[in-house]
Amino acid sequence: MKAIVFQEINKVALADVPRPTMQSPDDAIIKVTLTSICGTDIHMIHGAAPMMPGDVLGHEFVGVIEELGSNVDGFKVGDRVAVACTVQCGKCEMCLKGILPKCVRSGVFGCGPLLGNLAGAQADFVRVPFAQIAMHKIPAGLTDAQALFVGDILSTGYFAVTNGKLAPGDAVAVFGAGPVGLCATACARLFSPSKVIVVDPIPHRLEIARKLGATHTIDPTKTDAVNEIKELTGGAPTSLLEEFSNRSGADVAIEAVGIKPTFDACFQAVKPGGNVSIVGVFEEPQELLMSQLCVKNIGITMGLVNVIHMARLLRIIEAGLLDMTPLITHTMPLAEAVRGYEMFDKKLDNVIKIALKP
Ligand code: NAD
Ligand code: ZN
Repeated sequence: MKAIVFQEINKVALADVPRPTMQSPDDAIIKVTLTSICGTDIHMIHGAAPMMPGDVLGHEFVGVIEELGSNVDGFKVGDRVAVACTVQCGKCEMCLKGILPKCVRSGVFGCGPLLGNLAGAQADFVRVPFAQIAMHKIPAGLTDAQALFVGDILSTGYFAVTNGKLAPGDAVAVFGAGPVGLCATACARLFSPSKVIVVDPIPHRLEIARKLGATHTIDPTKTDAVNEIKELTGGAPTSLLEEFSNRSGADVAIEAVGIKPTFDACFQAVKPGGNVSIVGVFEEPQELLMSQLCVKNIGITMGLVNVIHMARLLRIIEAGLLDMTPLITHTMPLAEAVRGYEMFDKKLDNVIKIALKP
């Protein structure tokens, strides 16, 4: 079968690889009908974690069940399914606590030997271990494109919002309008916030943010984003003394980039008593001003996506409350994915997400 494989740092290729076979009665083999390129694939090809030459990439996908293990209940061959990007057994202490990404048997498709050594989904077929937990039936009325992001970036956006404990009437600031920040923006709207303020230097991404529910957008290269957020949420302080008594700011600040400027800005823009929810992946260590954050009573959460809400997200999409298809700016055959990788990595041609058809 055809697949997109890692060759060396910054190099991927279309290759012929063996078709996966069942290895356990907990497995399913999925015929991939739509997959995508994710920011994490880019981290992987840049060398964020080791990959072996020939490893199949990709972890965001939907497909049809081709083969099904005898331990997997409630599904049949031919069912259309959305599949989680992470694999979890559903039985260990971490799974039973609901912390799926920390399952003792966890893995991420297409992310190399340190992350479960699982072949990825940018391929004609993929083997899904512990398929009972990873798979969710796609409601009949939904297209593959509507369900594509449920197992990865949409779950991440939802996770960012719920980790931040966003409540009705709150103001939320989302730093980064990449695919993840845009999913967080759309998910924030589900919680009836009073303001959704999105910060990104790319005008086209801010335009999509507004379509997905941003009430205000800020280009941080044109104005001081923190000041602007404070102006929008009660007024910026005008003196050091006022700074101390000031209660303006976002109730929830979401970091969806993974760099120092947005990390720092989240802590400056959050209101006293508010929460900073971090989903950006950082390549560098960051510094926290502990005494200031303690005095401001700031809550901080972070982590790898928990895919526990996939069924809920599919219901929300089915009900017409969420539509992430505007993120798909490009669709191409899997065979052209090498070009897609370059386009996605360099953010060419106003790309946001590329859907790949095997
Ligand atoms: P992306 O690179 O497409 O998006 C990042 C966005 O940040 C871009 O639109 C960019 O213009 C913007 N940006 C750059 N500098 C900025 C600044 N100073 N202020 C505001 N915005 C700025 O990436 P993505 O696919 O949306 O992913 C975002 C982050 O989330 C990445 O670090 C990715 O690895 C991470 N991620 C985490 C998880 C998780 O489980 N926690 C899952 C998926 C992705
Ligand atoms: Zn991903």
